[in-house]
Amino acid sequence: MSQTHEAKVLKLQAQLADIFKESRAVRFKRSSTNSTRQRVAGGNAAEIDLTDLNEIVGLDSAARYIDIEPGVPMDALIAATLQANLMPLVVPEFPGITAGGAVQGGALESSSFKYGQLNDTVLEYEMLLGDGTRIVATPDNEYADLFHGIATSHGSLSLVTRIRLKLEPATKYVALDIRPYGSAAAVTEAIQTHTKENAVDFIEGLLFSETLGAVITGRLTDKAEHPIRRFGRNIDPWYHRYMHQTAAEGGKSITVPLVDYLFRYDKGAFWMGEHLFPLFGVKSNPVTRFFLAPISRTRKLYDGLHAMNVQHEYVVQDFYMDWNDAARIVNYNASGPKIYPVWMCPIKSVTTPQKLSSHYRDGEEMLLNVGIYGQPATGNAVNDTINLEKLILNLPSRKMLYAQTFYSQEDFWTKYDQDWYSGLRTKYKAAPFRELWSKIHTPNSAFKSRRVRGFIQVAVEALWGKNVVWGRK
Ligand SMILES: Cc1cc2nc3c(=O)[nH]c(=O)nc-3n(C[C@H](O)[C@H](O)[C@H](O)COP(=O)(O)OP(=O)(O)OC[C@H]3O[C@@H](n4cnc5c(N)ncnc54)[C@H](O)[C@@H]3O)c2cc1C
Repeated sequence: MSQTHEAKVLKLQAQLADIFKESRAVRFKRSSTNSTRQRVAGGNAAEIDLTDLNEIVGLDSAARYIDIEPGVPMDALIAATLQANLMPLVVPEFPGITAGGAVQGGALESSSFKYGQLNDTVLEYEMLLGDGTRIVATPDNEYADLFHGIATSHGSLSLVTRIRLKLEPATKYVALDIRPYGSAAAVTEAIQTHTKENAVDFIEGLLFSETLGAVITGRLTDKAEHPIRRFGRNIDPWYHRYMHQTAAEGGKSITVPLVDYLFRYDKGAFWMGEHLFPLFGVKSNPVTRFFLAPISRTRKLYDGLHAMNVQHEYVVQDFYMDWNDAARIVNYNASGPKIYPVWMCPIKSVTTPQKLSSHYRDGEEMLLNVGIYGQPATGNAVNDTINLEKLILNLPSRKMLYAQTFYSQEDFWTKYDQDWYSGLRTKYKAAPFRELWSKIHTPNSAFKSRRVRGFIQVAVEALWGKNVVWGRK
């Protein structure tokens, strides 16, 4: 292990041990978040600074794994692995998502039908328990329960300090096949057929309306078999717009450079960035999209969202649905919110005791993640989110917890095994870490928008074209 990593962990260990002795709560200080939850003041919790826990610790190209600190973002991770012609098996699609956040938040991607969530590709974790004890957990050592249990625990069981991630050979391109379908049912069926055939590396679906959708499959390849189309540069089209137009025109095959594919939704954060243009009093068109490109990437959009605190005006939710229940979310959306596009991403379930994770089930099955991101036609995003939560309350399906969560404590624990969770917290002395429900629950006090102040911050940055407001990229 590198000296600097060792020194950082020793410092954190000592801090945690002191906090534990004083019976205080701890709050993590991190340099970014891709969560849309409103930030709530952390009371008198002791702050632990994790901002420098963001380095690559080592890469073993023969054994095909990389050791990283949890604050390493996806773009830095990819840059490091590509130097060895390797790549992670699951790469969440926003470049600023960190490895630690993805593990603790349960991140999925279009390769999840093969590999599950990013945490399913982890070989071992180095972690600090609540009292500062350092452990290394693997799927089959004495800490296997914690190894599995931390998935989607949102930092409520331990502090992760190093992640050993499995890698696979990388290629130059992804060959994409884009096929249109005339209904949500047809898109869902086509996705299911592809998951059964298992002949591609990536599968996702998009619904653009009740009567038009697309299934986009991808294959890793070193050959540019079709015309090359890029999505990563400012002049390139936004991915969702390109897919919509292509589906409307009957579909086609294209070749996309690997990194452009992995971060294809960065410009516009899927399509949430479309809400930026009215703030500037302009329409979204190729010219305005080009000029506002620097602030329409996910890192900047998240900064703007948190600065303005307007999360409650949007539905931003992902639901891991049992296959036959997926239509319930789609139908609810069509009946009122009418938020389009809708993202559909197949993911295989796990039976290992990741009991907080959205893809934990009794048996092996293919699930369909349905992502609803946007401003609802009903005009009441909070109400729609609550209705969607109620819709899955008594189903095996679960939602991702990165976004607003309105479940009461009682309802929340009907969906998860509270005895198991409390047992892990006691066993691993997790008292200083904030308990899960209180961390992810959205209180009413969070609904205080700072629209004007936040917009001025966003606008100043846009006009000056520098990182003058937040002081970082
Ligand atoms: C429009 C939209 C679409 C989205 N679509 C997807 C999607 O398709 N796939 C997907 O995976 N996600 C998606 N997300 C969710 C988002 O990307 C997640 O929030 C992300 O997975 C978390 O990464 P992060 O690095 O920002 O972590 P954060 O959200 O900041 O952190 C996650 C949790 O982990 C804890 N944590 C972080 N580091 C540590 C550590 N070292 N030790 C212990 N605990 C720690 C944090 O305290 C926090 O509770 C979407 C979000 C939006 C807005």
